Formats: sequence, C-alpha cells, structure tokens
Amino acid sequence: MLYLDNSATTQILPEVKDAMLPYLLEEFGNPSSKYYSLATNANEAVKQARQHVASLVSCDIDEVVFTSGATESNNMIIKGVADYYRDKGNHIVTTKVEHPAVLEACKYLEQRDYKVTYLDVDQFGRININDFKQVIEEDPPILVSIIWGNNEVGSLNPIKEIAELCEEQDIFFHTDATQVIGKVKFSLSDYPGISFLSGSAHKLHGPKGTGMAILRKDSLGIPVKLTPLMHGGGQERDYRSGTLAVHNIVGFGKAAELAFENLNHNISKLEELESTLSGLLKEKFSDHIIFNNDQKDKIPGIVSVQFKGVNNEVLVKSLADHIASSTGSACSSSKPSHVLEAMGCTIEEIRSTVRFSISPTTDSQDLAIFNEL
Ligand code: PMP
Repeated sequence: MLYLDNSATTQILPEVKDAMLPYLLEEFGNPSSKYYSLATNANEAVKQARQHVASLVSCDIDEVVFTSGATESNNMIIKGVADYYRDKGNHIVTTKVEHPAVLEACKYLEQRDYKVTYLDVDQFGRININDFKQVIEEDPPILVSIIWGNNEVGSLNPIKEIAELCEEQDIFFHTDATQVIGKVKFSLSDYPGISFLSGSAHKLHGPKGTGMAILRKDSLGIPVKLTPLMHGGGQERDYRSGTLAVHNIVGFGKAAELAFENLNHNISKLEELESTLSGLLKEKFSDHIIFNNDQKDKIPGIVSVQFKGVNNEVLVKSLADHIASSTGSACSSSKPSHVLEAMGCTIEEIRSTVRFSISPTTDSQDLAIFNEL
C-alpha cells in the first residue's frame, strides 16, 4: 500500500524506534528523580533530545518545552498568553486557515471576552501583509498567531514580514510550524520576531503524543511569562507540569537529529517526488483535475487536487486498498474544509478535493501506481 497521508502522520523510523526502546524497558527512571542512575540516565536522555530539537529549529535549549503535541502547544501558548497579559489588552489576531487547535482555542477565548480577528487569505491560503499591517495598527493585539505552512495545501505565509512587523510593534507572535519543521529550511535565529513556535514529533517520523512549544527569551535573555495550561510539579521550568514521557521525548530527539542531518536531502527528495506525482496526475487526468496548491512558496510534498465531478469521500475510500490519502486535514475530516472555503473554493470544489502528502521515505517507483488507476 502506498502511504500518501504523511501530513496526517508519519511512520516512526527504525532508528527512532531503536532509540526509544531502552526507555520503555530497562531505562524507566523518572528524569525528575535524583542521584541514582535510572533517574540521571533518563534526565541525560531528555537533555540530549532537547539539544537535538533546539538544533533543528536553531533556538536555545532552555527555550524548548516538551508537550504532548502541537495541539497542546497551540493551546498552551494562545490561552497562556491571553490570560497572562489580559491587563494589556484582549485583541488576538489569527487567520481563517489555522489548524483547529488554534481556531478552537481562539473561539474559546472569544466566549471569555477576548476579541479575535480572523484574517482572510488569498486563493492559496496566504494572508495579505498589508491587511495584516492595517489590522495590527488599528487595534494593536496582545498576540498574533499565524500558521507558517498550511497543512492542507502547503502554502507558506510571509513569516519574515509578519515577524518583523510584530517585533517593531512589540507584539507577541506565535506560529504553528507543525507542518514545516523538517521540510522547510529555517533558523529561528533569523527570526527574532517569532516569540512562540509549535511543533509535533509525529509529523517528522517521530512518535505520536509528544511535541514542543518553543518559548523564546527576549532580547535581554529573560524568559517569557505565560499562564501554564498544566499546573503541578513544576517540570519544564514550571511551564508544563507532568512527568516527562521520556521514551517519546527520546524518539522526538532522534527524529529531530535525523531531520536536521538530512534536511537538504529530504527537501530535494520531496520536491522531486512532488513533481513526479503532479506530473503523473496531469498526464493521467489532464483537464479533469485542478490543483488547489500553489506551485511555489510551499511545503514540498503536499499536493491538493480537485477531481472534477468526483466525490472525495468516495474516491479516497475507493483508493484505500492501494493508496492512503485524505480529503484534507485528519483533524476535521468530517466537515468540509474551512481552509479551502477561505481560499474561495465552492462546496463542489471542496467535496472533490483529495490531499496526497509525501514523505522523503516514499519510494518514487511506487508512485507509478497512479498509471494503473
Ligand atoms: N497544527 C498543524 C498545522 C497540524 O497539521 C497538526 C496535526 N494535524 C496539529 C497542529 C496538531 O498536532 P498534534 O497531532 O501533535 O496535536
């Protein structure tokens, strides 16, 4: 079976599994315990994983907070900043094409007297920087949360410009980078305007159930303050209490290490595979298909395509024995895509869209199966 739903989740790499196994078996210590080797080994393993994750995005190790995944990171940052800085204001700016973990957190805050502006997007799902500028000048927000690369169509937002504007105006800027980490080359040191970033291990061949919130220090090196989502034993420097999932964190660290080492190779491979897949689809279906995704400034490996006059649920189901694909985001697969709707697609266009998402581990030979459809 050809697995083309890598934006939903990825398969753990063998090296990741091998790295994790000792921490599920013999090395079972609690990293917060002290003195005996089971505890210190676990603590050391978490430290190493933190270093790998920090290197992948190029931030300081004490800016990494391990969470249960990007859903938690998004919630923690949005609700945590909104609550902590409530005295400074109640305006939050986001977009109409965020992941539900951002949108629902914002809706929750709206019910608690926060004002949320949901920015419109263009036909590829990107915000307009002039609209954004106007919105933040008219009513300076306490937080901006804008997705870096879209999970349904792959489009990249103008993060550099957004970060610069936020930095100039001293506004906290959070970006959900879950889909771009390991697939787009960036270094947070080039983006001083990004205050917060979310990511997840299972999108880069690591385990499910772990992720990160990057909480950046200010220009004086002072840690940012926000209200924690989890109160308790004070792990993760009080930002996120709870016993660390050492095996998962070690797996995340290994996946991050491999993603960092192979970044250039993986990006080229994804670009190549995407071009092969798009070519095969064009050849096979010519004017019966329309690509929703832009061809440039995008995450390589995400292909969103309308099959004219075909119902996407029926298509994805009929392909399911041979190809794993999806109608869009796995997190909201029962509803018509809010992303495509915001991009201006009609309900018919949305109902005929299938997303294929590739991994660098995809075998290009296997894509030939499209010739046999
Ligand atoms: N944000 C984006 C852009 C995503 O694609 C996902 C995963 N579908 C998430 C957040 C949620 O990540 P997790 O599964 O780690 O909670």
